[in-house]
Amino acid sequence: MPEETIFSKILNGEIPCKEVYSDDLCLAFRDIEPQAPTHILLIPRKTIRSLKEAEDQDKKLLGHLLFISSKIAQQEGLDNWRTVINTGKESGQTVFHLHLHIIGGRPLLWPPG
Ligand code: 5GP
Repeated sequence: MPEETIFSKILNGEIPCKEVYSDDLCLAFRDIEPQAPTHILLIPRKTIRSLKEAEDQDKKLLGHLLFISSKIAQQEGLDNWRTVINTGKESGQTVFHLHLHIIGGRPLLWPPG
């Protein structure tokens, strides 16, 4: 059995979220602690701990997530945005269910901290 995370609980409805987009493969919702005027999380319905654990069979799903992240950003009216995937504790990953951050609505600094 895959381990439970906050995001698996959001997926099964145990924890509420502010939904932005949903389809049979993924769900997007607003981050509870937004780091910019727009901060959305996009997660696959399939449990994958991180990008590191993605397998050959997940290639299509990963492409779908990237494509949908762009659609969502544009739906939010963004022209410029950043797509972030933290992988592993030291990168800043705190929830071990693969997720894409879609961040925008203000100038973003580079390099990130
Ligand atoms: P990570 O640090 O793993 O890349 O990103 C996890 C993100 O999940 C953080 O930006 C954090 O604010 C967000 N988050 C944590 N718990 C919840 C929650 O219960 N609901 C929502 N909507 N976002 C959450």
